[in-house]
Amino acid sequence: MTYQDYLDQKPVILTAALTGGVHGKDANPNLPEQPDEIAREARACERLGASIVHVHGRDRHGENDTGRLQAVTEAIHDRCDDIVVQHSTGGQGPLRERIKALRTDPAPEMASLDLGPFKRDRHIITDHTRDNIDTLAREMRRRNITPELEVFNGGQLAEVTRLAEDGLIDRPFFVNLVFGGANFTPPRPGAVLELVRTLPEGSEFNLLATGRHQRPLTTLAVLLGGHVRVGMEDNLYSDRGVPAESNAQLLERTVATVESLDRPIATPEETRAMLDIEGDTVGGPRPGDELAAGEQAADEGSACPFLAYRSEGDGRSFDHERPYCTVADEFVSPMQADVCNDRFDFDHRSHCDVYREYVESETAPVPEEDD
Ligand code: SF4
Repeated sequence: MTYQDYLDQKPVILTAALTGGVHGKDANPNLPEQPDEIAREARACERLGASIVHVHGRDRHGENDTGRLQAVTEAIHDRCDDIVVQHSTGGQGPLRERIKALRTDPAPEMASLDLGPFKRDRHIITDHTRDNIDTLAREMRRRNITPELEVFNGGQLAEVTRLAEDGLIDRPFFVNLVFGGANFTPPRPGAVLELVRTLPEGSEFNLLATGRHQRPLTTLAVLLGGHVRVGMEDNLYSDRGVPAESNAQLLERTVATVESLDRPIATPEETRAMLDIEGDTVGGPRPGDELAAGEQAADEGSACPFLAYRSEGDGRSFDHERPYCTVADEFVSPMQADVCNDRFDFDHRSHCDVYREYVESETAPVPEEDD
């Protein structure tokens, strides 16, 4: 992964990240959430040159639901010719949820593997402990799923070497360098150069940058011989303040940039050869297989009394009911909906500032809640 790769016109692998786990249609109504919508976008991006599609599952309210990845992957296989499907194992859900991303039938050819936690808002930190990372890596190995190694900040590069030494991943390492807000690597050209310089030997690097950094930093990656991930998971806008119309719109612009810089776009076949992707030939746990003891965990709790499901409000309307906060009088994001629903280890009473400020105000009528 060098400037020489750029000069040698090494093909660029384009990953389209169509829909994430943070934003929903509340943030941009063009964001695909349901399996058919995601598959249509995947097909449009495949036609433009994407060889990998990175996807998350959502339920009918647009909330995060790894279990929906089975329907998503079936819809993509129905619509697309040959694109490599990459499931996300990231997000704030517990391991027992995230591992479902590896147990679809067929298994995805690739899956993301976060190499450490990331923080969002005031209370969210994902639980990517070394034990959890290793459990996911082992499962990927069992099913011949090629990991895309997500490096949210520079220190996590050490995990690439550790996983290789522990025999859990093989070269080539497909390292996705993440730049942007939260505790991601600061989105600066100097930071990109430094991380690319310190990649473990045998790495192919991919670059993801959030929001307005998507365009300049992915262009830099092309010049440094790297690969590129773009899409509405990482950036909801086509220009400053202008909501993106589709993933294809963002991808089309990237394709034009790559071609103007004289690097060809990798086909799915070239991508499989470059990353040594073999697919599920070995077997391993399947959908519905019993989860290992360590993957079982607590059930959901109750929910915030101010949570409602509406299709209209906040001056907007949607086809389906979505989570709505009656205190803030606005739709909430899929990630916040986990807090509103007391999912996983969240409790709206402790983890929502809107709730706390409201119940602490003297005039607030607060419904009685179960303990
Ligand atoms: S945003 Fe906060 S106050 Fe509103 S419904 Fe969710 S948890 Fe309750």
